[in-house]
Amino acid sequence: MRKKIIAGNWKMNKSFEDGLKLAAEVVHTADAEVPADVHLVMCTPAIHLAAVAKLTASSRSVATGAQNIYQKDSGAFTGEISADMVASIGVKYVILGHSERREYFAETNAQLADKVNLALKHGLTPIFCCGETLAQREAGIHFTFVKQQITESLFHLSPEQYATIVIAYEPIWAIGTGVTASSSQAQEIHLEIRKHLASKYGDVGQDTSILYGGSAKPSNAKELFACPDVDGGLIGGASLVARDFIDIAKSY
Ligand code: PEP
Repeated sequence: MRKKIIAGNWKMNKSFEDGLKLAAEVVHTADAEVPADVHLVMCTPAIHLAAVAKLTASSRSVATGAQNIYQKDSGAFTGEISADMVASIGVKYVILGHSERREYFAETNAQLADKVNLALKHGLTPIFCCGETLAQREAGIHFTFVKQQITESLFHLSPEQYATIVIAYEPIWAIGTGVTASSSQAQEIHLEIRKHLASKYGDVGQDTSILYGGSAKPSNAKELFACPDVDGGLIGGASLVARDFIDIAKSY
């Protein structure tokens, strides 16, 4: 069954103390206000993960996610963190392939395939990001580009391995820009992605949760979530304010 998921991407924001305050407020409010079938995830900087995972361990509606892992299991990779380390502290999700990592850290579809493998090996649920630039959309190649990202990083998985994958469609032109995809643009490409997943994985692909990301906020979330093929959101800026994040989750 498609899960409704609202995942917050804090990016490189919040001191340790401010992050814990935000996480505590989200957990407290979400457990009281958010319907039981809506799952929230807070994807925090690495420094916050252990403490936030402790906070969410007893939450009925909120889990903790990382924003990245390295593509090797262990070894001499100074500054990196592994899937195993992240999983060992109670983290449940990991964002993989965010456009900022693809752009600033040159992550490739092939590296992301390795990261997906390691995440799954250690029981983490990947939130796999895909999405096109404005130039690609204007050139009419956005469907092809997004499908290629998915094919090259995910389609080596067996149906059993693939089953837990969550997709986040995030048009790069909408991330942090204040410009949101219209609900018809979101629905059109989510449906296309779903068909692509189903062409490879049948019913399992059909059942994938596909989140929309890109300047989602309380004022536009309802319309986006009303689209039949949008199963929630990956939320950047608005996830840094507990009330906004919760109000987005309640828009379902
Ligand atoms: C994101 O970074 O994943 C994102 C969707 O950011 P924002 O909501 O700020 O556009």
